[in-house]
Amino acid sequence: MRGRIARAAGKVRREPDEITLVGVSKTFPAGAIREAYAAGLRHFGENRIQEWESKRAELADVQAKLHFIGHLQSNKSRRAAHLFDRVDSVDRVGLARKLHSAASDEEKRLSVLIEVRLGDEPTKSGAHESDLLPLAEEIIRLPCLHLLGLMTVPPYFDDPEQARPHFRRLRELREGLSLKLGSPLPVLSMGMSHDFEVAVEEGATEIRVGTGIFGRRDSQQ
Ligand SMILES: *Cc1c(COP(=O)(O)O)cnc(C)c1O
Repeated sequence: MRGRIARAAGKVRREPDEITLVGVSKTFPAGAIREAYAAGLRHFGENRIQEWESKRAELADVQAKLHFIGHLQSNKSRRAAHLFDRVDSVDRVGLARKLHSAASDEEKRLSVLIEVRLGDEPTKSGAHESDLLPLAEEIIRLPCLHLLGLMTVPPYFDDPEQARPHFRRLRELREGLSLKLGSPLPVLSMGMSHDFEVAVEEGATEIRVGTGIFGRRDSQQ
């Protein structure tokens, strides 16, 4: 995986260490996380609160950063703020306020990304482009949240080249938003197992790779 990241980065004259690899360990047991950690992986993504609660008990000695990358129901925001180092999928003002109040109670500053929905798939989570600025403005007013950037899951295409305009769009949105807010948004989380090379070429600073590291998930078999 690191070799492929380096090749994709080299194509556009980027340094491979500008790109953080987040291993998406959802559905895989704690042992798989431990193995990946031993191989040097330091960021993991999970999409279910309860699943991570049960795995983390076995991983108390593993010093990794945990990203919540799934759809987050507001009533689980307190547990998310407690269990995760970052929530990468903030997509609405109500959720941001709940996470803020939970982080504030824990006297911590919680890092977040805004998940943006590109394309017109009504069922997917993520903030619509037109809601992005007001949501970001609300988040930066909340002192116990730290807005670091944007995340997206583009529609699935068999040919990853077709995802390129979406990745480019997210980068443009990040640049525009950063100017409007007058604050740097260093993180662009985009690209998964089948399309991360294209995402890296388009400026991803983080890629979220599940299958490519851990193998196929049961639900895909
Ligand atoms: C599952 C998941 C991934 C990883 O997908 P793969 O195709 O297995 O690499 C990345 N991001 C999100 C938000 C996911 O839910």
